[in-house]
Amino acid sequence: MQRIPTQNLRTPGPTPIPDDIVEAMSNPMINHRGPEFLELLNRVTEQLKQVFMTTNDLYVLTSSGTGALEASVVNTLSPGDKVLSATAGAFGDRFTDIAEAYGAEVQRLQFEWGATVDAEDIRKCLRQDPQIKAVLVTHNETSTGITHPLADVASVVKGEFDKLLLVDAVSSLACVPLPVDGWNCDLVGTASQKGFMIPPGLAFISISEAGHEAQASATMPRFYFDLAEAQSYLERGQTPWTPAVSALYGLSLALGKLLGEGLENVYERHTKIAQMTREGIKNLGLELLAQDETYASDTVTAIKIPENIDGAKFVGMMRTEENVVLAGGQGKLTGRIFRIGHMGAVTASNIEEVMEAIKLVLPKVGFSAR
Ligand code: PMP
Repeated sequence: MQRIPTQNLRTPGPTPIPDDIVEAMSNPMINHRGPEFLELLNRVTEQLKQVFMTTNDLYVLTSSGTGALEASVVNTLSPGDKVLSATAGAFGDRFTDIAEAYGAEVQRLQFEWGATVDAEDIRKCLRQDPQIKAVLVTHNETSTGITHPLADVASVVKGEFDKLLLVDAVSSLACVPLPVDGWNCDLVGTASQKGFMIPPGLAFISISEAGHEAQASATMPRFYFDLAEAQSYLERGQTPWTPAVSALYGLSLALGKLLGEGLENVYERHTKIAQMTREGIKNLGLELLAQDETYASDTVTAIKIPENIDGAKFVGMMRTEENVVLAGGQGKLTGRIFRIGHMGAVTASNIEEVMEAIKLVLPKVGFSAR
């Protein structure tokens, strides 16, 4: 295959992969039922627990992030269970849809796209309906560039009502703080192709004691994502199904890098890059989608497309003329925003390049950047 030239890939996942991780993934294939794999799986599982800040059980799945979300639902719930799903974007909606697809009775608590979910509204719903068994929430809504106040949500869901809390951490974990045990989150799912700096193909999920209790009586159908199977194989240093071994080589190195840098430093690096991105955008005379910058995401920035500008044309020209790959809007924000991903391996100069490129391209689509 012809080599694809390197781009300034600024989509909110997949994210660019550092060269040493690419190199690590070219290691020879091994038997996934052999001793080298056992050592690899045990090591990355322990390191992942450090990144999740948890002592809960944790499993590596071979799937994209959606697989981890599906796993969290089908392993803890039964058809007919009442579930409250707080959503303010495309991924919150997806989590909701998964629970519905498996027969949960879902109450959709809708918030405006571009705003956060509100712990007070969640409290009201839980007060009104004591039958609700679980709450679904997205930590970082990638479609709108908003980080939801998960600590507040968790203190209501767990601290006040002791319900199951299922968290989509696909675009937050390993980038922004998410102390799984500190916030008492029951099931937390994430994926490899974002903050972990490795290719798509792996998902990670942690499950608490309360999660295990729910698992014991949950009857939703499951097979590939049966976490009881994952547990019994993990005890032998294996996964139930053939894992994406090469991605695990990359993961091993990536986790060493993240833990070596120190999680606090990793978070701070993301905060600085995000602030730089937002400042750059505002300096160009553009407007953030986030109504309040205090909850603008440190992993992805959503920017309003100015009136009368063809957003698809702009994103297209950024790629063809400037080699910068941005993301457009999703769902009802299609054509209304564009997004800059800044998670994982991203440097200040990557963002400077993006700003320079935007400055050059915007006038060509009819907007005079400052
Ligand atoms: N949730 C969030 C918050 C995401 O950002 C994504 C991916 N963009 C997903 C879920 C779905 O993950 P995947 O595409 O890996 O299945």
